[in-house]
Amino acid sequence: MPGKHSAEVVGAGLAGLTAAIALAQRGWSVRLHERDSEVRAIGAGIYVWGNGLATLEALGLSDAATGAHVGPALESRDHRNRTIERVPINGPGQPRVVTIMRDHLIGTLVRGAKDAGVEIRTGSEAVEAHPDGTLILRSGETVRADVILAADGVNSRLRRHYDVVARRARMKQGAIRLTVPQSAEYVPAADRDKYLEYFSGRRRVLYTPSSETSLYVALVADEDDREASRIPVDAAAWTRSFPHLAALLSACAGATGRWDTFEFLTLTRWSLGRLAFLGDAAHAQPPYLGQGGGCAMMSALGLADALSTPGSPVDQRLRDWEYAQRPVVEHTQRWSYRLRKLNNLPDTARSALLHAGALAPRLGASRMRAARTVPTGHGRFAGAPPL
Ligand SMILES: Cc1cc2nc3c(=O)[nH]c(=O)nc-3n(C[C@H](O)[C@H](O)[C@H](O)COP(=O)(O)OP(=O)(O)OC[C@H]3O[C@@H](n4cnc5c(N)ncnc54)[C@H](O)[C@@H]3O)c2cc1C
Repeated sequence: MPGKHSAEVVGAGLAGLTAAIALAQRGWSVRLHERDSEVRAIGAGIYVWGNGLATLEALGLSDAATGAHVGPALESRDHRNRTIERVPINGPGQPRVVTIMRDHLIGTLVRGAKDAGVEIRTGSEAVEAHPDGTLILRSGETVRADVILAADGVNSRLRRHYDVVARRARMKQGAIRLTVPQSAEYVPAADRDKYLEYFSGRRRVLYTPSSETSLYVALVADEDDREASRIPVDAAAWTRSFPHLAALLSACAGATGRWDTFEFLTLTRWSLGRLAFLGDAAHAQPPYLGQGGGCAMMSALGLADALSTPGSPVDQRLRDWEYAQRPVVEHTQRWSYRLRKLNNLPDTARSALLHAGALAPRLGASRMRAARTVPTGHGRFAGAPPL
């Protein structure tokens, strides 16, 4: 259609898919490039908080949460399996969060993209992008658009040409993520529906029902903890730290897992001319709040709103988007960065700190700021408690 605005989006993860759908729904002509031969997600679950859910609702894709698990509480347990913090969720006035299998979420977004008219090109790797709106592909093709969105993940190749990284830190901690079938053997019946986080020494186990049948497990440890980061999972080593989870850890040993080291990244600016960085390419965070994907989706929706607001040139709209989004995203990043320290504390000090945190509602509200944020259009968001 003549006069239609055009976008080339690089990366079919949560950020790229969300931005592509939202722009196409606002009348843009959108092409999405994914370097892999298909759009796929790793075999794990994901926490989708209120901001992610509100984004899915705004895209008309609430059915992404169909079959998701809706837990009653998040509980942290100490090395003796005693509850040290309990956050009630999903009740009136409480934070909303569901857990879902990543392939179901990505599959729903791919369907949404196709329905919205996005052209998805798999096996299409981008190698360079320029602020004048030029994108160069591995195939040798050069394409031009009103805006280029680099949603190519924390190791963004498109970002490498520009001096925009303000801070990047590898956390020296990471996690094995895997899925096992749910079973009554793993935890007592009263705990089965909860989201449970177990601490012991410098290791953590995250127990996350993510559908009626699937249980997502994350095993968090220091990068140099050789036996804890080994794949397949070393059930004996993990059971030494968590004897009460022996049945679960033995099931994990038979599952296909993937280790990822956590990263933190901030940029000096999120855009240059007609080129914008979004999602993990702009603001990666360690997953202690389960908000990297939520922030990516929330911010991508805000980007589409900002770009579709008439009256100013594209580079100005991108700056407006950053101005609107950056405070809540960076606030969330700061919190997730701080929370890494919990892993490094002795068991007794950690328990005392978490117990004190549970008794401080303002602290809890601050930590949950992004989770309570909802889009209101024009790239702006509301509903968050004060910083
Ligand atoms: C252990 C762990 C647990 C987490 N848990 C949660 C959670 O519970 N909730 C939550 O919200 N977040 C969570 N996160 C964070 C979340 O997974 C990320 O923030 C989110 O997936 C980032 O999405 P993205 O689209 O920005 O990047 P990515 O998911 O990395 O997607 C980038 C895409 O770009 C493609 N690509 C890369 N380079 C190119 C190129 N040159 N050309 C074309 N395509 C390219 C890649 O193949 C990929 O498909 C977790 C992260 C980790 C490590």
